[in-house]
Amino acid sequence: MKKFLAFILSLTMLFGMFGGACTVFAASQTDEQSLGAAEPCAGHTLGSFNGLPACVDENGNLHICENNFPDANFREEVLDLRGADDGYFTEKEAEEITYLSVYGQSVSSLKGVGFFVNLTSLNCALNQLTELDVSGNSALETLYCYDNQLTQLDVSGNPALTDLSCFSNQLTQLDVSGNPVLADLSCFSNQLTELDVSANPALTELDCGYNLLTQLDVSGNPALTDLSCSSNQLTQLDLSGNPALETLYCSDNQLTELDLSENPALTIGFFSQSVSLELASEGDFWVADLSELVSPDHLDRIVSVDGGEFDSQTGIVRFDYQPFLFTYEYDVRKEDLGTMRVVVYPTEPEDPTEPEDPTEPTMRYGDLNNDGKYTATDSMYIRLIIAELDTPAHNINYEAADVTGDGKYTAADTMYVRRLVAELITLEELPVNQ
Ligand SMILES: [Zn+2]
Repeated sequence: MKKFLAFILSLTMLFGMFGGACTVFAASQTDEQSLGAAEPCAGHTLGSFNGLPACVDENGNLHICENNFPDANFREEVLDLRGADDGYFTEKEAEEITYLSVYGQSVSSLKGVGFFVNLTSLNCALNQLTELDVSGNSALETLYCYDNQLTQLDVSGNPALTDLSCFSNQLTQLDVSGNPVLADLSCFSNQLTELDVSANPALTELDCGYNLLTQLDVSGNPALTDLSCSSNQLTQLDLSGNPALETLYCSDNQLTELDLSENPALTIGFFSQSVSLELASEGDFWVADLSELVSPDHLDRIVSVDGGEFDSQTGIVRFDYQPFLFTYEYDVRKEDLGTMRVVVYPTEPEDPTEPEDPTEPTMRYGDLNNDGKYTATDSMYIRLIIAELDTPAHNINYEAADVTGDGKYTAADTMYVRRLVAELITLEELPVNQ
């Protein structure tokens, strides 16, 4: 019971965390004022430098000081730039800086970068940045800001951007609609729920894996040569508009079909999937309908189904046992790349005739799937819990699994459930009911 409550509690905390992240996003919108200095050092004045408020000397030169560059580590790097030896930049000197790297320098604020208006390449990867304002760097072509803690990134003021690497941050949104020449976008390992690359016709490399994408439309990216979109929640992927595609990583989504016949240049492809599908019992058999996953026209592309008897006319697979999972191999119509393996996790059908009484909990210990019976399924589910192989698709009643009542899932629980199933003991004999 305790364990069950802890599980609910951790879910609540998880959603609470995401909710919190959204609040932060709303509260910290980019502030144009934040680009320049707020006050001058003693003996200097608050003037304007390359259009931004700045601490400047009597000649209008930019002071390399805390007011203009608040982060000490960033300031150190700036002092190493050409023209900085005297502690000041003339406008000309600042305009000549086109390349800046502070890679892995423990920088937590890049404030002041806006003074370098002609910057074409900025590498601020592997730092502790929680925000990044590049709205003053309209000439930027290359931006590496990966491995930071950014929750948002605004690149709408960077129309020349060709290369954006912002992977391993905490981005929930990424708008690249204002970057028409973007060729290389690497945004994997963020928390993106959508990504629109329709305004990026020059895109050749896209790595958006390990996000929360449910859709990905690459039909407007005919130049795409490398696509990585593994570990998202895609249910479809249409690559018919990508004739230049050479490598494809799209494993660990929920694709049930894939057609690579329009990708003649493709030589590397990884595309294993896992999905769930209802499994019904019919007399002595268990039956799944693959036409729920694969369109009727393409059932003949299912090359084989592991463990069951498959009818390619109807899509029906029949098992003479209850499978824990099964796989099918799908012909991707690209001979050199083999077939797509899809692992299917069966779910049990909902029984509409089953009476529902919300006031009277029907939970019985050991009956992990709440079907009122003790079967091999219950015994299998408890083994899944202990092996941590259970997924939400299984609909396991965790409370019912702790038959020893000690708040843990152990081999002892497994043993009792197996005895229940084998009718060696009765419900009353479970420790939790003693
Ligand atoms: Zn100053």
